Amino acid sequence: MIISLMLLSSPAEAFKFVVPARKWDSEDLPIVVQTSTYLEDSLPQVPDAETGRYPQEDVLIKSFCNWNWTEYCEEQLGPEWQRYDTALCADVPFEYGGTTNAHLGFTDDDTYGIYWDDPADELAAGILGATLCPYDSPIIDIIAGEQIRAIRNCDIVMNDNINWGMVNALEEECPAGTYAAEAVMTHEVGHSLGMGHSCDDGDLCVDSDLLNATMYWTAGPCDTASASIDADDIEGITALYGPYITWNVTEDSVRFGPAPLEVCFELQVDEEYEAEIQGVAWNFGDGTTSDELEPCHTFEDQGQFTVTADVTGLSDTCGDWDVSQTQRAHVLVCEEPDPGFELNHENGLVYQLVNTTNVSTYGCIDGLNWEVYEGDSASGEPIIAFGAWSPKLDFTEFGEGKYTVKLTAMGPAGEVSMEDSFDIEESRGDGFGCSSTTGGMGGTGLAFAGLALAFVLGRRRRS
Ligand SMILES: [Zn+2]
Repeated sequence: MIISLMLLSSPAEAFKFVVPARKWDSEDLPIVVQTSTYLEDSLPQVPDAETGRYPQEDVLIKSFCNWNWTEYCEEQLGPEWQRYDTALCADVPFEYGGTTNAHLGFTDDDTYGIYWDDPADELAAGILGATLCPYDSPIIDIIAGEQIRAIRNCDIVMNDNINWGMVNALEEECPAGTYAAEAVMTHEVGHSLGMGHSCDDGDLCVDSDLLNATMYWTAGPCDTASASIDADDIEGITALYGPYITWNVTEDSVRFGPAPLEVCFELQVDEEYEAEIQGVAWNFGDGTTSDELEPCHTFEDQGQFTVTADVTGLSDTCGDWDVSQTQRAHVLVCEEPDPGFELNHENGLVYQLVNTTNVSTYGCIDGLNWEVYEGDSASGEPIIAFGAWSPKLDFTEFGEGKYTVKLTAMGPAGEVSMEDSFDIEESRGDGFGCSSTTGGMGGTGLAFAGLALAFVLGRRRRS
């Protein structure tokens, strides 16, 4: 079993982001990694004649280079080490910093170290390796709405009670119970770069891409396949470190307004990827699409629209890439408010106002004002004024008579008022339906509850 201490939980297919989501700040690259001088006794003990490095040091370099094969990797290891796929569009270079004994195990220091000696015996039996990264780091990016925190340094501890083997050797002959060092370390390095598990213990994991990922939560003995990264790993690390494109409306466009609403969109692209863009497929969420690079689109009807831009590119270094970005409820288009109400008699001179204003599109009504006037028109000073969804009216202090109720509804498309006059009587409710009506309140009242209204409740009395 492989665990990573940095992972709290990771739902299936959340391959891109652990919780909290994190990545290395480009200013902190290349990542410099050190290791202790301890020689893992189950691995070959003879250093390379040319480099002077022990095989376990080359495993370390390879485990990083698996993720992003750079020129540095080729210089250090030679092209014959690149036997597998790598995430060419994920720009996350590293350098091997040599050995150190200054920092051992999971310590909160400024060093990124990979240790074989598990000095504090931090790994339980059965755990192959573990990664620990500090949590309290600043937010450096937002990807697909997720806040991304900086990874400053991490420590990886490999369990020294395991029988480890080199992939080359294990592919020829694998003694029972031997684990591929490169496979487990590549997985742990993935965590230290910000990767979560493709599937976790207990997840229903049926997608073969997720099962075959190096970031799958567990690995078996003699499993050498995980000594490379696979489709899901590549997709995840590229999302964190590769071309990433967002979009927004142009500076002189608005996202909220009356129908019809013309909105112009623009891409926000890192300069290095701008020239690589091959095409953009826009979906405006109202049944229309565009393949213009930066389109203007007119939303004809009221609604909240989720807009998606799917950007494809072609890079010299990494070939085809594809970045999709969806922003939910990005555009709000509103018809003029359509206020309406009924007045129902409750008892005595108490009446219930039942609001029937159309709130079918969330956000299109953002304010309400009720005014009550004496007489058969809304003129002069109101005797009562307030904001509420469906208030009660108590005419006791004003007495029976003719009154006019005016309702004003406000929203992005303006404000509209309607008024109606009523005979307010103590005993009967002639002409305005005396049954106590609460129907319609539930649904519309609920929809309205989320509109974040800041009504000031006040009564104004005639002096
Ligand atoms: Zn793991």
